[in-house]
Amino acid sequence: TYVVTEACIKCKYMDCVEVCPVDCFYEGENMLVINPNECIDCGVCEPECPAEAILPDTEDGLDQWLELNATYSAQWPNI
Ligand code: SF4
Repeated sequence: TYVVTEACIKCKYMDCVEVCPVDCFYEGENMLVINPNECIDCGVCEPECPAEAILPDTEDGLDQWLELNATYSAQWPNI
């Protein structure tokens, strides 16, 4: 799965949302998250993010962000 990280906070560009083929972005007050159960790992969103906030979960040190994306995508509205 891909993971939305800290640089997304208060960015709110929606370029990633527009390109996602499975609509797996969810929106909170300050940032977006990706539902890890719905993401198909296509990678299309990563280069679209102007804040470089979207990373593959294969990168090191993303455990907390992966957990946050999983938790909040279950609570926030789909966009
Ligand atoms: Fe959507 Fe693909 Fe990005 Fe996953 S990697 S969030 S499926 S655009």
